Amino acid sequence: MKINLAKSAGFCFGVKRALEIAFGAVSSQARVYMLGDIVHNEEVIKEIKKAGVKKIKTLTNGKDKALLIRAHGEGLAIYQKAYKLGYKIIDATCPMVKEIHQIAKEMENEGYKIIVIGDKKHDEVRGIIGQLKNKALIIDAKAKLPLGQLKKIKKAAVICQSTQNFQKTQAIVGELKKYIKQLKFFNTICRPTRAKQEEIKALPRENDTVVIIGSRTSANTQRLFEIARSLNPRTHWVQSAEDLNKNWFKRINSVGITAGASTPDRITQEVIKKIHSFS
Ligand code: SF4
Repeated sequence: MKINLAKSAGFCFGVKRALEIAFGAVSSQARVYMLGDIVHNEEVIKEIKKAGVKKIKTLTNGKDKALLIRAHGEGLAIYQKAYKLGYKIIDATCPMVKEIHQIAKEMENEGYKIIVIGDKKHDEVRGIIGQLKNKALIIDAKAKLPLGQLKKIKKAAVICQSTQNFQKTQAIVGELKKYIKQLKFFNTICRPTRAKQEEIKALPRENDTVVIIGSRTSANTQRLFEIARSLNPRTHWVQSAEDLNKNWFKRINSVGITAGASTPDRITQEVIKKIHSFS
């Protein structure tokens, strides 16, 4: 059985950078805190906590403490509150997410209504809308367009969560154009996500079975799984080698593997090793 690992599998540039910042922070600061998880992977979080970063749910007194802003970014209110409480801020927001913030703020200043294509509950989306003075509209599916609201909008700027599926985004933008006369679309899907999405179009067609590795909380892993599944029904999503099922690999010649942007290489290698043991 041949195993084909996608070139773009695993950590993206933004996650690598955020982890370097996090480990650097604990080696130079006495007390480092993060609000929520720095990236969406349980194994990585365990390592970060082991290194000394503490996870908190709310901000308290920030004297002699540093607050690590995660790769997905935060809204302005968190920065303001943290400064007020005395925290030192260590910002690990991915530069590609910062770029989205910048576009959203500039467009809002030019009088455009901001529309974000993304998951309403995702930290990155909350961070984007948290940069704005006015309420943004969030759309997560073509089937759920708020037509009443759209008809009232004269001009809008559309941006998307960095890990969105491009085809899905295009379909939504196509619909929005029917209702909003002046519509500017910024394709803010980040480069590593685009590379992953390009590769995932070939991997399921070229292999009998596909394995996607990543946390159930990872949006970009979810996206990879959705695309691969639509092209090859024998696609499986695992969080680690423990989730593998021997039966998936019976009577097949090749397996294609990729991993989400926050999946450590160590986990990918363990998965590969276990699949080899089945053949
Ligand atoms: S997925 Fe893209 S936007 Fe998100 S952290 Fe990675 S590089 Fe940055």
